[in-house]
Amino acid sequence: MDRPLRVAIVGAGPSGLYAADALASQDDVPVTVDVIDRLPTPFGLVRYGVAPDHLSIRSVRDKLDAIFDRPGVRFLGNVEVGTDLTWAQMEQFYDAIILAYGASRDRELQIPGEDLEGSIAATDFVNWYTGHPDMDPDEFTDLLARARSVAVIGVGNVAVDVTRVLSKSPGEIEHTDMPQHVFDALRASSVREVHLIGRRGPAQANWTTKELRELGELSECGIVVDGGAEVDDPASASAIASDKATARNVAVIAEWLERSVADQPRMIHVHFRSRPVEIRGDGRVQELVLERTIIDAEGRATGTGETSTLPVDVVIRSVGYRGLPLDDVPFDGSRHVIPNDEGRVLGDGGPIPGLYVTGWIKRGPSGIIGTNKKCAVQTVSGLLADAQAGLLGAAGGATAAAVDAALTGWQVVDHDGWRRIDEAERALGARAGRDRTTVHTREDLLAASR
Ligand code: NAP
Repeated sequence: MDRPLRVAIVGAGPSGLYAADALASQDDVPVTVDVIDRLPTPFGLVRYGVAPDHLSIRSVRDKLDAIFDRPGVRFLGNVEVGTDLTWAQMEQFYDAIILAYGASRDRELQIPGEDLEGSIAATDFVNWYTGHPDMDPDEFTDLLARARSVAVIGVGNVAVDVTRVLSKSPGEIEHTDMPQHVFDALRASSVREVHLIGRRGPAQANWTTKELRELGELSECGIVVDGGAEVDDPASASAIASDKATARNVAVIAEWLERSVADQPRMIHVHFRSRPVEIRGDGRVQELVLERTIIDAEGRATGTGETSTLPVDVVIRSVGYRGLPLDDVPFDGSRHVIPNDEGRVLGDGGPIPGLYVTGWIKRGPSGIIGTNKKCAVQTVSGLLADAQAGLLGAAGGATAAAVDAALTGWQVVDHDGWRRIDEAERALGARAGRDRTTVHTREDLLAASR
């Protein structure tokens, strides 16, 4: 081909940006890369997923930001594929498209009472406390002001984040980049008890040890393990013996079991082998019904029929994320991912030339941020091999100018626009004595980008 290969990446989160980096840091195939995001800001879950008090993880943003400085890489923010750019235009403008739009929705418990007022998805709560522009700033203000006891279902890192954010004292969050309305609502919160609920045992929990330990180190919050923490069944014993990370997690729980219960203004209660079977209440959440489980030889939870009720005002479902389909693109509705072979999207007749996938929408919502780097490198290797085999390039002579022309009249946020938002957030933070404060409405983000 006598021109650079034109690649679009849909999604400017870590997986999309690592793919852009892998494309821009090789010399075998000359490329230009447009990283497109429906939001006015880049960084995906690094901005709207990683908890605001995890400052060092959030600082990955700076490394991702530097990827936009590479020659040939552009940011096209505030552009929704399927609406602002149609799929037909995408196919016309680009030789290859990498889908990296993640898994943005919550998984459901599918138990009675899940729709009651006060039963909420962790994805929404996380979006709210990180200042996602799609969330109403007042969404949880009243709920937090009247709730005393909250149940968080699931024992993964998102459940840990949500529990910690609810349990920290105002002094422990005031230095973060939370939007001011979130900080105010958390400061006014009447939540005093958070119940963290796992349907299996400590040896089967998904959290990582560093994150777990933090729950036991909060300044004005005690922690107590309320039951089900035995690890003497064969599946747990074998998981502990074969995996150091599991052994470390179990040791943290064992240490908490030994602690005497201190008199603290807030408490976290950890429950294991407790499966949610119903949420009850008169119009809004009043209690959670839990069934005791046992762990079978394969490490699965089996209900025993023995139930108990927990009086709670709020239930937060933190049982994983799921990806959504995109019109005109194959989708595996049972796994909520785009079917693929090492990143090449699979249609009925095998790989679809020029269509690739990376990140959570490729492999499901798992791993840490760095996992997406390896995942993106695999996808990009396939794309470059296809380019070298002459399989790409049917788009003809489409240029960056053709994309710009198609978006005429639309407010696209480019990298300079993001830098202006960044400046505005630092200035807003400085007024409150913080490094930065997140600007949260789409209107204000767009205004700041201009
Ligand atoms: P996750 O790690 O998959 O955890 C989901 C939890 O929900 C599991 O404990 C699971 O239990 C439980 N669960 C699923 N269905 C359930 C049901 N019907 N009833 C009761 N419990 C149920 O998901 P996540 O916490 O959303 O995290 C997603 C990914 O982001 C993970 O890879 C995580 O490590 C990562 N992340 C990392 C950080 C960090 O590094 N600081 C922070 C946030 C997220 P079972 O195992 O029994 O199915």
